[in-house]
Amino acid sequence: MKPPPFEYHAPRDLGAALRTLAEVRGKVLAGGQSLIPMLNMRLTAPEHLVDINHVASLGGIESLEAGVRVGALARHSEVARAGAHPLLTRALKLVAHPAIRNRGTVVGSLVHADPAAELPAVLAVLGGSVRVARSEGDAQVERDVPAEDFFTGPMESAVQPGELAVSAYFPALGRRTGGAFEEVARRHGDYALAGVCAVVTLDEEAFVTAAKVACVGVGPVPVVVDVGEASGHCPVHELDWAEVARLAQSAVEPEDDIHASAAYRRHLVGVLAERALRNAAREAETGGA
Ligand SMILES: Cc1cc2nc3c(=O)[nH]c(=O)nc-3n(C[C@H](O)[C@H](O)[C@H](O)COP(=O)(O)OP(=O)(O)OC[C@H]3O[C@@H](n4cnc5c(N)ncnc54)[C@H](O)[C@@H]3O)c2cc1C
Repeated sequence: MKPPPFEYHAPRDLGAALRTLAEVRGKVLAGGQSLIPMLNMRLTAPEHLVDINHVASLGGIESLEAGVRVGALARHSEVARAGAHPLLTRALKLVAHPAIRNRGTVVGSLVHADPAAELPAVLAVLGGSVRVARSEGDAQVERDVPAEDFFTGPMESAVQPGELAVSAYFPALGRRTGGAFEEVARRHGDYALAGVCAVVTLDEEAFVTAAKVACVGVGPVPVVVDVGEASGHCPVHELDWAEVARLAQSAVEPEDDIHASAAYRRHLVGVLAERALRNAAREAETGGA
């Protein structure tokens, strides 16, 4: 299948990219791993494509003490190889296949906002943010959108026409904090039927001081559930994680589709949340990631 006709723009720097976007309100082309199939299947028909692949300043991964900033052109494979964030690295192993990871970008996956995708859940459970830029007259205006406001619906994010997501920020896990990502997919590399990303923090006496999960494939956006209160009243070895996981199960609203029933997806969330919380707690106990 072939895409519908469009005008192609290939700006060489960020200023030119933002000016072009402000003028033509076209679609940004990053790795093309979701956009090109959608064009070829005629699910979208933008009149203009703004290819950002020549804007060198959008590349790179910056490791800071408090977290990691990933540029809009950093590919999945590059970020995984850099090993800059243990939870991100773990999630990236579950994203698609090597050829797609070599081309697809972390920021593109966030903007694409597929409810079954892994990286939105990582951003959401960590409380990260996305930096969005636009051109206003001669000025370049930036805003940081927190994860809780970034995912606005299935395949919808807070990035508006004329805007460009320039980077994403993933806060570090911190001391005595562990993370885990568990999912079930029909084949390795497929989108998950359901998945759960968990982060757990322990104090010196092995009590849980914070615990959160983000569930994928079971709602229009990543479903974040704070289970810290329910987990914090006894030492971690005595915790009934299955009971805690039931909180996640009751928060999700899965739907039936050709791949799985809603009931099966809800069952998976219970099993995966228990496993992810247990694994994250184990990692936290050994000092964190
Ligand atoms: C066979 C196959 C299997 C896959 N399996 C998985 C999987 O298991 N898990 C998973 O999470 N993903 C999966 N994907 C999807 C893919 O990994 C991501 O959606 C892709 O990496 C998105 O990044 P990209 O750079 O390719 O974005 P593109 O395809 O270039 O763009 C996607 C969308 O985001 C917008 N966009 C991209 N970057 C920006 C930006 N910087 N600013 C503003 N808008 C932007 C585009 O305009 C477009 O609307 C799969 C894809 C394929 C083809």
